[in-house]
Amino acid sequence: MQKTIAAARSLRRLQRLHPLQPLQSLTTHLPRHAFQGIVSRAVHARATDFLPTNLPDWTESQREVREAVAKICVNYPDEYWLGRDNDKKWPSDFTKDLADNGWLGICLPSKYGGSELGISEAAIMLQTIAESGAGQQGASAVHMNIFGLEPVAKFGSDQQKQRWLPPLIAGKERACFGVTEPNTGLDTLKLQSLAVKPTPDADHYVLRGSKVFISTAQVAEKILILVRTTPLDKVTKPTQGLSLFYTNLDRSAVDVAEIPKMGRAAVDTNVLNFDGWKVPAADLIGEEGEGFRMIMHGMNAERILIGAESLGIGYAALRRTCNYVNDRVVFGKPVGSYQGLQHPLAECWMQLESARLMIYLAARMYDNGSTDGAYANAAKYLAAEATAKTCERAILSHGGMGYAKEYHVERYQRESWIGRIAPVSGEMIKNYIGQRVLGLPKSY
Ligand SMILES: Cc1cc2nc3c(=O)[nH]c(=O)nc-3n(C[C@H](O)[C@H](O)[C@H](O)COP(=O)(O)OP(=O)(O)OC[C@H]3O[C@@H](n4cnc5c(N)ncnc54)[C@H](O)[C@@H]3O)c2cc1C
Repeated sequence: MQKTIAAARSLRRLQRLHPLQPLQSLTTHLPRHAFQGIVSRAVHARATDFLPTNLPDWTESQREVREAVAKICVNYPDEYWLGRDNDKKWPSDFTKDLADNGWLGICLPSKYGGSELGISEAAIMLQTIAESGAGQQGASAVHMNIFGLEPVAKFGSDQQKQRWLPPLIAGKERACFGVTEPNTGLDTLKLQSLAVKPTPDADHYVLRGSKVFISTAQVAEKILILVRTTPLDKVTKPTQGLSLFYTNLDRSAVDVAEIPKMGRAAVDTNVLNFDGWKVPAADLIGEEGEGFRMIMHGMNAERILIGAESLGIGYAALRRTCNYVNDRVVFGKPVGSYQGLQHPLAECWMQLESARLMIYLAARMYDNGSTDGAYANAAKYLAAEATAKTCERAILSHGGMGYAKEYHVERYQRESWIGRIAPVSGEMIKNYIGQRVLGLPKSY
């Protein structure tokens, strides 16, 4: 009940921040036409074309969030994101816009400046951002604010929250998330990076080790990092001895090297190597050795949100494709009338919608206190797969233009891969479902 009251209070606050606009006022971006004069091909439409805001399964606050976020996103059309994909520059005007309008910290406690809404609302926010054409470049630029600091909000002391949350919510600080390591991959319990106190009563730890694929480390001031405080061979259970810190990303001790990658160029991904990195003991979250339990707390939320981002890309690809195949005439008819194109697109819609129902079911379960990972994992998997298929069909349906950057679907397709790999792979999700839901033996 208290949560409902808090959510309602936050909703009212959001309403004051974003007075409702009729949907029609979300500008329909006029298309850039390729081959002007030869054929007119509308390539951009409203963010909500395939996904009306008034779906019966959405709550009023979800609708509210979608409309308000779409209103900001509409100022950053596909051309803006293609520009960032080309110049590889951090989308600072977009993130500032979201921060200035009170959106960073949507899930964080109102006591520290957040809106205290649920993962259900955060999922809508990230889906809408991705769906606007921003894809993973827009969503990844802010999603650390949404779920990354969940362990701090849940397990940090009041003093730590006061220190860390307000600057993050205001967009004055950015954080990255350091879990994956080069030698251990998905086997998180085998992490090797170590934090050691030089003496038992020292006021700091010294960190050494490495992390890989750490997104936003080129621009982040802060890092949430999981390391061992007790080596693996000295613990009775591998879940013990891992500790979580939120601290300054001290570039005098941490070497940050960018990894050239397939897509999402505006949001960097890096290898971190560190040795002799002094981290204040005051930056340890909760108890030493309890880090794995804390990081697990945020994992279901992370899967749901990354699934929602994937969905957004899928709908964006489908929207563009339907606009295109309606306009493109070959053999005297719009190519969208040919069933070879139309039926696969209809399948894409059905698969995206099925995944969407699963995503928002998992979000609702999470907000109601469920810690069961089956639906969060399955939802992320289904959304990523439906989106990958949709992006592939989008390129094929555009013919040669699917391969041209101007039509954006090749960018969506490159970004759709992220949801299939991170934060957990499809294979590991199937392991989880096989073992935990179906009760089958573990193979590894
Ligand atoms: C763009 C991008 C951004 C990322 N951002 C971050 C970030 O900010 N912070 C962070 O900590 N990490 C980040 N990651 C890392 C991401 O979470 C990992 O890449 C992912 O968890 C997979 O780990 P891995 O790459 O080490 O794969 P590996 O563990 O090396 O796996 C390789 C392959 O083997 C399969 N495999 C492994 N074990 C099994 C098994 N038991 N059964 C069946 N198959 C198995 C995997 O599914 C995969 O196909 C990012 C990754 C990408 C691509």
